[in-house]
Amino acid sequence: MAGGPVTDTLSPCLEVRRVSKTFRDGGHTVAALEDVSLTAYPGEFITIIGPSGSGKSTLFNLITGLAEPDSGEILVECGITRRRAGRVGYMPQRDLLLPWRTVLDNVILGPEIDGHSKREARRHAREMLPLFGLDGFADVFPDTLSGGMRQRAALLRTFLTGRDVLLLDEPFGALDALTRRELQRWLLGVWQRFQKTILFITHDVEEAVFLADRVLVFSARPGRIVRDLPIDLPRPRDTITRLSDDRRRLEVALLEALEAANT
Ligand code: ADP
Ligand code: MG
Repeated sequence: MAGGPVTDTLSPCLEVRRVSKTFRDGGHTVAALEDVSLTAYPGEFITIIGPSGSGKSTLFNLITGLAEPDSGEILVECGITRRRAGRVGYMPQRDLLLPWRTVLDNVILGPEIDGHSKREARRHAREMLPLFGLDGFADVFPDTLSGGMRQRAALLRTFLTGRDVLLLDEPFGALDALTRRELQRWLLGVWQRFQKTILFITHDVEEAVFLADRVLVFSARPGRIVRDLPIDLPRPRDTITRLSDDRRRLEVALLEALEAANT
């Protein structure tokens, strides 16, 4: 069987231990996260769902090292907290393609920042374009791309960072339903092929279940993980998965957890 987590023989590649984060905004404080712990094993696909403002994006900022937790610790690749920056690939909530760079030069940003040869990075990226549905688009600028293609380009950029752990913050949130479904199938394909560990934030119950090995449910602010729901649907997932009673059963369980989290 391809894909799915390997929990028996390998140590975790991401551990978040009892992390809390409060923002001080002028006179008042906002408790964004409270006592959040999670462990991700190599090759796992974890989706995260919860109300708006429950600290999901904040968690990603903490994992990448863009912000520091008030308490708790975060270990990536069994490394230590202080060195976690640069160990994960991050696709932020807004697609940040640079409008003045071609698609090819947008997607090589990771290796370029890491100081790798630009020529070599471009060569490798060109090879990857067809797999990301971007064949023939190397030399165009992002504003000529459809929404789905922009997201593919942003995902390719994240994959080309070469990191084992990828954090994807609502990557398909703005897409129409059909494009979204197509990209979900496609993302599962590249995830299995490259054996990445993925944390994926979504607002969509169907998406959370379809993609995941596990769904983590966040409570309303301050965000806490109130449910860790295993998704035991067989892989590879396809239209049959979407139509199955098992999928419906899991979506109902997730909806109930979300309703409980909001009250
Ligand atoms: P989510 O991604 O779950 O919608 P966020 O992590 O973006 O939630 O935000 C959680 C809470 O923290 C929100 O109330 C938000 O306004 C607040 N917040 C996030 N980042 C900052 C910041 N840099 N400064 C002040 N408040 C922030
Ligand atoms: Mg967010």
